[in-house]
Amino acid sequence: MIFQSIDFFNRLNLTSITMKRKDFLKSTGLTALSLPLMKLNAFSTLSSNLKSSQKMPLMFVGHGSPMNAIVQNDFHKKWQSLGLSLPEPQAILVISAHWLTNKSTKVTAMSTPETIHDFGGFPNELFQQQYPAPGSPEMAKLTINQIHSTIVHQDMEWGLDHGTWSVLKPMFPQAKTPVYQLSIDMSKPIQFHFDLGKELKALRSKGVLIIGSGNIVHNLMQLRRHVTYDWAESFDHSIKTFIDKRDFKSVIGFQKLGKVAELAHPSYDHLLPLMYTLGAMDKNESIEYFNDSFDLGAISMRSLLISS
Ligand code: ZN
Repeated sequence: MIFQSIDFFNRLNLTSITMKRKDFLKSTGLTALSLPLMKLNAFSTLSSNLKSSQKMPLMFVGHGSPMNAIVQNDFHKKWQSLGLSLPEPQAILVISAHWLTNKSTKVTAMSTPETIHDFGGFPNELFQQQYPAPGSPEMAKLTINQIHSTIVHQDMEWGLDHGTWSVLKPMFPQAKTPVYQLSIDMSKPIQFHFDLGKELKALRSKGVLIIGSGNIVHNLMQLRRHVTYDWAESFDHSIKTFIDKRDFKSVIGFQKLGKVAELAHPSYDHLLPLMYTLGAMDKNESIEYFNDSFDLGAISMRSLLISS
């Protein structure tokens, strides 16, 4: 059995520092391109074709190491069991910590998104993994029309990064449900991401399962076996307490926690998907926490399943 090692994570970290998105695209032969917002004359037809559904649950998933996709550990097993118990979605929208954009928000709109192996230093078996779910140009258009606070661009080049497929492969192994992603515009303030989540909420009644994929604590420079840091537990506990009180203003203002926040998130890209999830929930909905433990001392795998 393969198990993720600190070495793997250290090498992953080096990759994430040295291989920026642009370089990654260059290395794969892709170039940056985003299509302008389409004028959607056929929107009313599209809307009427989509079935209304019972309001779908909503999730924030701590994804952690990409190895969780293939190692039969407790995190992986929980994702498997959730896939068996969740209502069947018509589409899945993932806001992944691994699709970061600058001064734009994009939504993948291709019909066949490719599986992106956006990491380095892992066993070959991980690079062989594919998640051949279809995309959903229709849901991408619906999502673009749902958002009024910013212009959202269609994207035909990204695909499904490991923040998406490493979780969905165990959860929905048949890969039949269309999957699409929304990017995170890192130039925007934290409040923007929460507000954008609010605008996504209506998609839940169209059968869309929305998943924020990141980690509540994420410091790859501090990974250790058999130790969980006090600051990691403290930050995780504070965020949970805020969420339990439905005090989302304090979650958005997490930087006020000072040093523990800096240690928990040297960069806070992995916390931003949580803002989308909380924005898309109603305060009276129930929250079930799962996978609420730490991996390698500095990664909180705490995840949320939110339902009415
Ligand atoms: Zn990640």
